[in-house]
Amino acid sequence: MKLRDGHVHSPYCPHGTKDSFKSYIEHALDLGYTEISFTEHAPLPPSFQDPAPERDSGMRLEDLDRYLLDLSSLKTEYKKDLMIHAGLEIDYIEGFEEETAKFIAEYGPSLDDSILSVHFLLKDGKYDCMDFSDAVFSDMVARYGSVDRVHKVYYQTLLASVKADLGSFKPKRIGHMTLCRKFQHLYKPLHPQTELISAILQEIKQQEYELDYNGAGIYKPHCREPYPSDDIAKEALTLGIPLVYGSDAHQSKDLNQGRELLLFGDSST
Ligand SMILES: [Zn+2]
Ligand SMILES: [Zn+2]
Repeated sequence: MKLRDGHVHSPYCPHGTKDSFKSYIEHALDLGYTEISFTEHAPLPPSFQDPAPERDSGMRLEDLDRYLLDLSSLKTEYKKDLMIHAGLEIDYIEGFEEETAKFIAEYGPSLDDSILSVHFLLKDGKYDCMDFSDAVFSDMVARYGSVDRVHKVYYQTLLASVKADLGSFKPKRIGHMTLCRKFQHLYKPLHPQTELISAILQEIKQQEYELDYNGAGIYKPHCREPYPSDDIAKEALTLGIPLVYGSDAHQSKDLNQGRELLLFGDSST
């Protein structure tokens, strides 16, 4: 049986753990995985000021070549047992499209499988890392005016990310599409944003993209559901959008997290 994890972090993640590539790989093999994509947070655009206090949202640009070299030797070493893909989780940041496209044009040819995600939202000239903490989210709710407004801006930014022209190596998979629900049990949205969500799914369908079917949200204490949630996953599947399971593991023991609680297995294989 084919078992695939399309969203895994690595020792190069500045806010993750130092678990080695081999600890991820060996654990994936123990779990019966046959295919895995390492999708480390890409370096952020050089002129972007990371709003996270430790400025550790993305990997360091000077580490990128080594990251790719490490993966290329691991691919050869584990060739018989595990298909390893070299990828990145690339941020879509409103206003930084040009720098992001330039980065993708340079590194895209060396990547096999990547994810495009939105973590940063822009309001009145200020960027916030929306999923950083409940304190940041609470501050955003105050500044945006309501939980629904934060959600709305998130989905609008996500829609822009799907539509953005980032060149021919633009990632084909959209990361954790309902990340704005990470703190939903603390800050309840009243509006389900059904229309925006449908528009996003339609656009994903039209562009022949895929969805990251991300188990990490299930274990976030204030989220307790996958990204995307069951209703949206069903809608995506009805449209024929492939859902690719992603553990979003930042430590090797989190591989496979949430998988058994998802509505569907990986629909892409
Ligand atoms: Zn991360
Ligand atoms: Zn992410």
